[in-house]
Formats: sequence, C-alpha cells, structure tokens
Amino acid sequence: MGNRISIIRSSMPPLEEYVDEIRSIWENTWLTNNGPKHVELKEKLRQYLGVDFLNLFGNGHMALQIAIEVMDLQGEVITSPFSFGSTTHTILSNGLKPVFCDISPEDFNIDPNKIEALITEKTSAIVPVHIFGNSCDVAAIGKIAEKYGLKVIYDAAQAFGVKVNGKSIGSYGTAAAFSFHATKTFHTIEGGAVTFSNPGLQERLTKMANYGIGLTADGKALDRGPDIKGFNAKMNEFEAAMGLCNLRYLDGEVAKRKNAHDRYTSRLKKVQGIHMVPDREGITRNYSYFPIIVKEEYGLTRDELLEKLNADDIYPRKYFSPLTIDYPCYQTDYGNSHVPTARYIVERVMSLPMHSYLTEGDVDRICDIIEKK
Ligand SMILES: *Cc1c(COP(=O)(O)O)cnc(C)c1O
Repeated sequence: MGNRISIIRSSMPPLEEYVDEIRSIWENTWLTNNGPKHVELKEKLRQYLGVDFLNLFGNGHMALQIAIEVMDLQGEVITSPFSFGSTTHTILSNGLKPVFCDISPEDFNIDPNKIEALITEKTSAIVPVHIFGNSCDVAAIGKIAEKYGLKVIYDAAQAFGVKVNGKSIGSYGTAAAFSFHATKTFHTIEGGAVTFSNPGLQERLTKMANYGIGLTADGKALDRGPDIKGFNAKMNEFEAAMGLCNLRYLDGEVAKRKNAHDRYTSRLKKVQGIHMVPDREGITRNYSYFPIIVKEEYGLTRDELLEKLNADDIYPRKYFSPLTIDYPCYQTDYGNSHVPTARYIVERVMSLPMHSYLTEGDVDRICDIIEKK
C-alpha cells in the first residue's frame, strides 16, 4: 500500500509569498470591505478572463444566489439535477420553481435537445451548470434563450479559466457565477465571482453583496440606509491576497493537472467499460475533475471499484451523487422529474483524484488497480 491519495488537494502558493502579500494589511489595517487587495484582484481576474465586467463575492454559492436575484426572474427556471447542491438551492431561495432537464451521457451537462420541451409561459430563465468544468453547449443554449427571451445564468463554479472558441466561458449567457473555494482549480480559500457584459448589472451586484448598501465612486459605503435588501457576501483582504498569489501560479497548476489528465486518458482508454469525457474542438479545459462512468462491460460496479481503490488508500468520490432532486430536503417535490440519463449517470459516476500535486506514479497506481479489477 502506498501513500494516501485524496480526491483533491488545495493549491498552495509559497508561504513567504503569501506573507509578503498580506504585510500591507498590517500597515493599513484594512481587513475587508472593498479594500485594495479586493480591488486589485477584481481587475486582475477581469483581465485574466478577458470579460467585460467581474464582481467578487465571499463564496460561489452567494455569487450564484445574487446573480440569479439581480435578473428579476419569476416563475420557472430550467436547470440540471446533476450538480452540487448550490444550483438547486439558490434557485429555490430566490423563490423560483426549478424544472429539471435531463443531461447528456457524454459530458453530463444539460442536454440542449431536451430544454425546449420544458419551456412554458412561466419559464423565465435557464441555469445550466458547466459540470466538472466541461463546457455546456453554449451555442445551442444561447439560441434557445434568444428564441424564447430567457435569461441564462451559468453555474460556472467549476469552470474557471475554461475557454470556448478562444473566449472565456464567463462571457457566455447573461451572467456566469464562479467559485473560488479551496477545492477549486483557482481558489481564494473561500470566494467567488460573477462575470457579465451588461454594465447595468454592476451596481446591484455590488450592493447585494454589501447588505444593499451602495458604494461611492471611490469605493466607500454610502452614508444612507440600504435601498435594496441585500446579503453579506464580501470577499475579505486575506482571501483576495490568496487569490493574487494563486493567480501567479495558475497556468502552471493547470498544466500539471493536464499531465495527470493525459496520463489517466492514455491508460484508461484501453480499459473496457470506462467512459471518460472526450475533448471537444474549440474548448480549452481547466482539468478541474476527472470523472469516469463505470459501465456494465467493465465487470465491477462503480461501488465495487470504489471499495478496491479505498482498500489501497485511494479516495475518489461519487461526485455528484445523489441528484439534487433526491435530496432529503426536497425529495418529495422533485424526485419524479423525468431525467433517465441523469439517473443512469449518477449510479455509475466517480471522480478520480485530480489536483496539481498528483504524480505520474500516483496516476499509474490508480490505473493499475482499475485495470486489474
Ligand atoms: C463549488 C460549487 C458551488 C459553490 O461554491 P462555493 O464557493 O463552495 O460556495 C456551486 N456550484 C457548483 C457546481 C460548485 O461546484
């Protein structure tokens, strides 16, 4: 038995570099509330992604919650049940009714061919998820949205740095919400962002993260009461400093993930019954996860393979099981949605360990077990 291999390991910048980055916080004692690190990271990320506008948030969940809120939606929202809980939770906590669309068996994203059948006169938006960082079919979704006058808010939590035809994934849809949680490819410990191109959204996105209180042109809180009901979803200076450090190493971290990804791919493509998400033309990936589907032809079930790997101190996860429609908190309402492919996938999916510290030897150790059965 070798060393323990976990599903994820957070990327860490050199400690001294982080200490240097936070030194100025001791000088200006500006710890949070739109401080200089926040302002700097916001602009650097906007440039890195090449998007028109970007606002920072305290986490990805609140970024999505607020991105949906500022669209002033009503009625029904079409979404995917194969996601992390935030996607369905934020639709519901905005007082909207989620309508669950089935997913593609190839990449587990919302199936654009099945969206139109779910549109009614009550539908106001689509909230697709770029699951595992693999891009949805943004062109097809964009066409449907235009035809029916729907807003599109992407849950891009897992898709930081992904490009479609050379453009950031954040420039598709009405808005896109990213997570910078410690487990994501780019992280600020906790954090998130919303990208958008309509300048009219900026003021409300800013206020919603700050109890509804507006900011003056130079970033100070306005001296009157909030004019909208907001949240506290601010990114603090320590988080922004972590982001500034991590951003310097991001391209290298993604390259290391790509090495692991390529090694997995070349070894597992020889194994009968293991499906991997294929590369798609025009898409730059971020290698945030390495999901596989364990099909019948493989011989062992997903859970049997998981046990084998666990026995060797290797810990993949059944991301993203269960489907959100089967959560105990709202199972009775949504469990009967017609999503046969999502049901098939969720029984067979497993995310193999994927992070920038994974060595070729680690990947080989995992693939040896999968190959041998
Ligand atoms: C991580 C994640 C979120 C939530 O982001 P946090 O920063 O952890 O709050 C939302 N949606 C998806 C798909 C995620 O993976």
